[in-house]
This record gives sequence, C-alpha cells and structure tokens, in this order.
Amino acid sequence: MSAVISETELLVQFLKNVKLFAELSPDSLAKLGTCLKTAEFPPNEVLVREGAPGVSMYIIKSGLVEVRKKDPATGIDFLVAQLTEGAAVGEMSLLTGKPRSATVTTVQPTVVFTLTRADFRNLLTQHPEISLGLARILAERLEDATKQVGIEYINLFKGNFDPRVVGLLPQALVSLHKVVPIAYVNNSVTLAMVNPSNLVAFDDVRRYIKGVIIEPVVCTDEDFRKFMDTVYPHLMGIKEEPAGSSLKRDDKRDERRREEKRRAAADTPMQSLEDLQNEILGGLEVQSEEEEKPTNTMELATASEDAPVVRLANNILALAINKGASDIHIEPQEKGVVLRLRIDGVLHVENILSKKIQLPLASRLKILARLDISERRMPQDGRISIKIDERAIDFRVSTVPAKFGEKIVMRILDKSGALLPLDKIIVHGPTVEKLRWMINQPYGIIYVTGPTGSGKTTTLYSSLQEINSPEINISTAEDPIEYDLAGLCQVQTHKDIGLDFARILRAFLRQDPDVILVGETRDQETAKISVEAALTGHLVFTTLHTNDAPGSFSRLEEMGIEPFLMANSTIGIIAQRLARKLCQNCKVPTEVDETTLGYFGYTRETAPTFYTGEGCEKCNRTGKKGRVGIYELLLMNDELKRAVAGGAKSDVIRDLAVKNGMKTLKDYAMILMAEGLTSVDEVLTNLVVGG
Ligand SMILES: [Zn+2]
Repeated sequence: MSAVISETELLVQFLKNVKLFAELSPDSLAKLGTCLKTAEFPPNEVLVREGAPGVSMYIIKSGLVEVRKKDPATGIDFLVAQLTEGAAVGEMSLLTGKPRSATVTTVQPTVVFTLTRADFRNLLTQHPEISLGLARILAERLEDATKQVGIEYINLFKGNFDPRVVGLLPQALVSLHKVVPIAYVNNSVTLAMVNPSNLVAFDDVRRYIKGVIIEPVVCTDEDFRKFMDTVYPHLMGIKEEPAGSSLKRDDKRDERRREEKRRAAADTPMQSLEDLQNEILGGLEVQSEEEEKPTNTMELATASEDAPVVRLANNILALAINKGASDIHIEPQEKGVVLRLRIDGVLHVENILSKKIQLPLASRLKILARLDISERRMPQDGRISIKIDERAIDFRVSTVPAKFGEKIVMRILDKSGALLPLDKIIVHGPTVEKLRWMINQPYGIIYVTGPTGSGKTTTLYSSLQEINSPEINISTAEDPIEYDLAGLCQVQTHKDIGLDFARILRAFLRQDPDVILVGETRDQETAKISVEAALTGHLVFTTLHTNDAPGSFSRLEEMGIEPFLMANSTIGIIAQRLARKLCQNCKVPTEVDETTLGYFGYTRETAPTFYTGEGCEKCNRTGKKGRVGIYELLLMNDELKRAVAGGAKSDVIRDLAVKNGMKTLKDYAMILMAEGLTSVDEVLTNLVVGG
C-alpha cells in the first residue's frame, strides 16, 4: 500500500464534498472524475451568461465566482450569490434545457471542472440518487433567491393554468404539501410551493410523476389558500362556481387587462413609475379589508415581493442612475410619498407616489439593503449592490423614522465609473500640473477642503489612481468607501465598534504604508497622527472642512497642531467647489449688471463675454448640464512656511500665496465664466452664498 494519496483518490474526496454528488458511491465518483475536464479562468471572465444555452456545468475547484441575475425591465444585475470551492454552477440549465437563468463571473482566478451536457445526462440516468443532492441544492438556492431578489416568486392569480398540468398531482398531495404543478415541459415540472425547502414534498412529487425534474417557484400561503378555494375547484371541475363568482370574474378580467398592459409596457425599455404605481394600487384594491394593512414581518415581506413592487423599486434605482443622480430621497408626507433625486447637486421632485405604496416600497428597499423590515422605529443603514451595463454601483441606504413614516435616502456610489484622470476633471492645464507635482512628492500632507458635495472625494481618488502602482503600498480609511480601486487596502470606519479614523490610521502605520488616505480630519487625534505620519516619511491625503485653502491652517491650529509642525508637514492645500456646467448646446451671451462686474473687478470695457443657458432638449430645458470644478491650489514654499510657522493670520497667508502664484477660487471661477463653462449666477451661488 502506498502512503501517497493518488490523484484519483484526491478527486473522489473533493467530489464527495460537492453537495450535488454527495450521495454517489466512491466508485461512481471515480467514474465521474474521468468525465471531468479542468479549465482555468482569470478574474472578471464570464463563465456562464444569462440567456445563453447550457452546454456544460461547472464545479469550482478553487477561486471565487459571482452569480448575478438581470431584472429584464431595467437591466439591473442583482448579486444573487458568491460561490467558492465545491459549488456547482450551471446544472439547472442542463436539466431544464432552458437558457441560463443567471450570469456567473469570476472574481478571483478560478479553476473549474467542466462536465458536458451529455455526460451529465448519463450520470443522472445511471445514478438517480443524485436527485437527492439536487433537491437540497435547489431548496437552499431558492431560499436565497426568494430572500434576495424575489424573481422566483409567483402569484397564483396571474397565470392561466392548464387543468391537465394542475391535475398531474392528486388533490390530497397538493393539499398536504401545499404544492401546485403549474407548467410541464420535457419531463420538467414547474412546481409552485409554499415551502420550497420541503424535501419530503420533492420526494413525494417525484415518486408520483416518475423521474420528473422539479423546478420550484414560491407562492405565499395566503395565495395558495385562496387558489385552492376559488380557482382550483373550478379548474378541476370539482364543483360549481361559488356564489358571488361574477365579482371574481370581474376581478379576473381586470387582472387580465392589467397583465396585458404590463406586457405591452414591458416591450418599452422601462415602465413608467405611474404605470407601476397603478398596477400596485390595482393589486391592493383586490385584497380584502383585513389584508389591506400588512403589519407583521411575514406579510410585509410578501407584499414587498409582489412583482410590481419589485419592479417599482428597481425602476427607481435605474431611473436615478440613468438621470445621473447622486442621491434618491423617498419621503413620506401626510398624503403621499415624495420621490426626489439629486442631480448635479440640486434636489428635484421626480414624482409623488401614492401613500398606499409607502410600506411595500420601503420594505422592498429594506430587503434589498438587507435591513430588518420589521424595525420601523429605529434608524438603519445598509447597502444595495447592483451592476448595470457592467458598472458596479452601490447604494448606501439609510432609513430614519420621520413623522409620516420612514424616510429613505440612498446615496449612489458608482464605484466603477467617473474615475477620470486629473486632466479630465480639471479643465485648467496649469492647475493640473501643480496638483500632479504635489501628489508626486515622496512625503508630506495634502489637504483637500470644501463643503460636502464639492467633489473632494473625486479629486482624492483620481490622484490616488494616478500614483497607484504595484511598487507602493496605498492604504485608505474611509466613510463610506466610494470607489473600488484595485491594489489598494481600503478600510471602512465603524463608529459603533470604535473603529474610527485615528484607530485605523495607527494600525496602518504598523503596516509599512507609502501612501495613506484618511477620509476626513475632524478631531485632534486624527490630525496629530496624520502630521506625524507625514513627518516620518509618508504621503498623506485627507480632507478638512474649511472654506478656502489659507483658512485650513487656523482650522488645524484649532485642532491643536503646532504651527511649525503644520508648516513643515504640509505639501499643499486644495480648496474646491462644484458648479453646474452650462449646457454647451444652448449657451448664449448674456448681459451682466455693473455691481456684479465690480465684484469680479471688471468694468464694461474689460469684461469678457458672459453666457447663460437658454434650455434645450439636451439639458432638460435647464440650461445646465453636468458639473465643473472650481479649484484653489496653495503650494507651500519657504516664504509661506515661515509665515505659517510664525502663526500668521489667514489674510496674510492668502496674500502671500497669491503673490506666489495662487489662483483663488474667484480667479479660477472667472476663467471658467470667460470660457463659457459656467454662469455668473452659478459662481455667485457657490462662492458667495455657499462659501
Ligand atoms: Zn441645453
């Protein structure tokens, strides 16, 4: 006997741990092993594409893959699962002969065993015990799917069922296990089940319809009971239609009309929010009095998985992305629910939804964000992670119990998009050059300042992206993590467990970093560690809440930093604002009054041409499209260092910086106005009112 374990034995051992094959004997597993081929995939490779025909199934030998399912109405890919070693992928499509129902993409370098359709079919016929493994996998997957997406969910009152199919199982079995066969194709039955993890039901059904492949879908207990009381007897011809059935028929006709409308609407790329809302309201009206106010968690979850609610929630997300919004606000009022989107920094009312939609919609969004839907009195924070057109987008969801119900705000974090090089986000060439010089210094601190929503994060990330390389160690402490940058060590703060910026920063310093980003400096401890890190040879990026660059020194002094330490650790300070950009399609010259000209230091004679947007198709008649940054870069030199170390006031520092070539926010804004990139009113709003 050899002490070395043979490759076959290793493979058998591995396959034994694959749930699908758990019931097979070692001999069968060894035979199975001979049918398997190995394939290797790099990260981000599509293994299985949704809608494609199934030719093989895969068993993950090592690595990590992501399973995503597309919502057909909006094109949003929802993350359904992450699978690793031992998981099987793509067997469903082989069983049903239907196209792939999800897309599977590698996250890490992944090695898989592949099994062809023919080999898989052979295996199934020779080893019926596999079906037990299959049933288990199905049950688990369904539980996950219904929890997460609600796609495998069926409303028994929305289908036109064939009595021959429904009659495949005897009524006793249907009632016992609460299962209804609703479709039967190629020896595969679609089974509506109240409890998809009922393994006994699987076995009983398979015993009854011999060798059948079961594709379970979920229905509610409520739905099932109503179906059994009304539709089922009618379909099976068990008894006459019950009294009051004319009303039921009307309901059904309405239902059909709604369904037709829905189908027609599904042809257009996106259903309007109004249509969806009407559909949900229609659905609510046919419910009886007692169910109108779902209160317990189970009913809430059920109401929120009703297909129109799912689609309404999806469409709101898709709408916000398509409109380029940064935030979604869902605000219950006394008589309705206001949906507002923040676009280019300004909130717009997008729609006012019916009060009746408030609860199901909130529940649906909370399910997507993995929040506790029964908790409506405490604020909660969560996250929805989706992919749309290959872009990974996160929604940071927060709920707050307000007077008329939970207010939900979702911040959109487009982690894959918008990370442009610095010369694409900063239009003024010399400013880009100065910033590039700053970020290429070996050590010191770079502060970025400005109010919330002034684009500080974009500047920081674009800078990090420019200096990112495998030779340097970049670590970031953030709240929240707004972009995913490959090769960075990104850490999210968690205030509730005491993981704040200062604590992460101290941990980073023990990990030999070259570059550190601290999301925000707002306390003495963080400020001090940053300065120490900078003085001990690290390049530190962070943000401050100050109005302009020179004012940052007094802010740091308030936080207890010694002036000579500031002077010696600071490389430079960037102050910035985001102004709405004039629509370049409809901008026209405009007159500006004397006072305003005076503010900018112009006379009628010296003033350039100013522009305003007339409004056109391309800009939604607003005259503004996109945004443009206004920057003020203060670069330290010996003269400024001496002034800062000597405790000079902001005004003195500003004058010195200007003397040394600093363009103030106002100077920079004047360049943008003269080039027709933004308007006078926009600059005044940003620099005078907002500043
Ligand atoms: Zn326009």
